[in-house]
Amino acid sequence: MARVVVVGAGVGGLAAAARLAAGGHRVELHERAETHGGKLGEYQRDGFRFDTGPSLLTLPQVFTDLFATTGGWPDGLAFEPVDPVCGYRFADGTRLDVPHDPAAVPAAIDAALGAGCGAAWQALYDRSDRLWDLVHEPVLRRPLRARDLARFSLRLRDLGLIAPWRTLRSLGEAMLPDPRLRAWLDRYATYSGSDPRRTPSVLSVTPYVEQRFGAWWVPGGLRRLGDALIERCRVLGVAVHLGSEVDEVLVESGRVAGVRLVGGRAVPADVVVSDADATVLYGRLLRSGPRVRTAPARTALRRASASVSGFVLLLAMNGTAAGPQEQARPPAHRVFFPRDYDAEFDALFHRPRPVPDPTVYVHAPADPAVAPPGCASWFVLVNAPSQAPAAGVDWDDPGLRERYADRVLEVLAQCGCDVRDRIRWREVRTPADFERDSGSPGGAIYGTASHGARAALLRPGNRSPVRGLYLVGGSAHPGGGLPIVALSAAIVADLVGPA
Ligand SMILES: Cc1cc2nc3c(=O)[nH]c(=O)nc-3n(C[C@H](O)[C@H](O)[C@H](O)COP(=O)(O)OP(=O)(O)OC[C@H]3O[C@@H](n4cnc5c(N)ncnc54)[C@H](O)[C@@H]3O)c2cc1C
Repeated sequence: MARVVVVGAGVGGLAAAARLAAGGHRVELHERAETHGGKLGEYQRDGFRFDTGPSLLTLPQVFTDLFATTGGWPDGLAFEPVDPVCGYRFADGTRLDVPHDPAAVPAAIDAALGAGCGAAWQALYDRSDRLWDLVHEPVLRRPLRARDLARFSLRLRDLGLIAPWRTLRSLGEAMLPDPRLRAWLDRYATYSGSDPRRTPSVLSVTPYVEQRFGAWWVPGGLRRLGDALIERCRVLGVAVHLGSEVDEVLVESGRVAGVRLVGGRAVPADVVVSDADATVLYGRLLRSGPRVRTAPARTALRRASASVSGFVLLLAMNGTAAGPQEQARPPAHRVFFPRDYDAEFDALFHRPRPVPDPTVYVHAPADPAVAPPGCASWFVLVNAPSQAPAAGVDWDDPGLRERYADRVLEVLAQCGCDVRDRIRWREVRTPADFERDSGSPGGAIYGTASHGARAALLRPGNRSPVRGLYLVGGSAHPGGGLPIVALSAAIVADLVGPA
């Protein structure tokens, strides 16, 4: 039995703690915030309840497996299919509602965008199906290393599919004849916080996964998943310490020795699992020990660009209607595209500033548990550059958050969804707030962006160069998003092994 310290109670830390405790280890978890969940946050007021982070769950089987491995399905937790998965609203007025059933998607696309578009999307889906077969086991379930990539490259067929030289944008240009389909594909780059013009085409598996395995909602809010995870940890005997910040990861004779908490108390450990952002771990927490061995990781992180952050409006709404131009039962998730999508990526990645004309994502769950009768809780998200005052983006600038919130609502109104007269109150979350709440540098949602041929596959490894120190979470391999983060925990539990 090893003494394990887990740093951070985000989904990655919680999943790792549960798996390691179920494997017979003695696990202690330290979280700097006063609550668990990290980016899987929640805000409640006057009977309205909002998820402040994730609003859509994919790959539910990852959590089914996590709970099965650690003691069974939690009482009261449910996953409900989201159907339609999403309603896309394009600048020319076209509306595409994507059904939950993948077999029905091509016909829905043809009906919305014109004959032939469905077949083009299906061809991309079929290609991604082969890609998924190729990468999901070795990439998502194992601690991928550079030599594994070299192994892929040896097989010409595999190399053609992975096509590391190709970007998501160029794949779309080659396979999708319609600009609206291409904008839809581009959007998936932002699910790893990246620019489609620089993101490797391997990320075309993201829409495939959403369609093949479906999109899911957790009644009561996705936060219930975090509640179930911390409950599972407690049942398994994990000692959970909230409001307990780790100041340093201690290293002796080249291997991890424990952590030192803010305030000075040292907690000895044989294994430390860090759910803190990899930049924080390598840049701040790991102060002693083999600097030479950890130098390559620090250099790679320094060179990488940060993933995007988000600007969020939580709207307490009078009435339950979805907006003037919507049908009776509109999709709970809607995306309103701008006229010039590239201008958004320029504002996010090249001349960072709040995007003047952003894509607006609205989540309006039809779940009675999240709003008082006759009302609705809307989560509105636009991509935003990280908090970086030195680079000229300071979300704490007086007045900016309210001004930009007004702008987002104005953009929504220009898209035919003017709900300004129905807002009872609003709560605004900026990248600076995300940075403060989750400790992620700049409030970046996914650690570093997946820019460059190998970036999507070679994120900071789950096994650090310091013996006994492991990384979980969205900034490490295999990447961000709830299920992928939970997979990083499974990888780490395998690396540590049972007691
Ligand atoms: C606005 C938004 C929308 C999103 N939408 C979706 C979505 O729809 N679907 C989806 O799947 N994903 C979505 N995501 C991404 C998803 O939330 C994350 O990938 C996932 O929650 C990250 O979990 P994590 O464990 O890696 O990190 P985090 O949640 O960041 O957790 C890290 C934890 O470590 C703690 N910590 C850091 N440093 C220390 C320290 N020194 N000592 C102690 N504790 C420390 C932090 O306080 C934090 O609680 C979204 C995220 C955001 C912000």
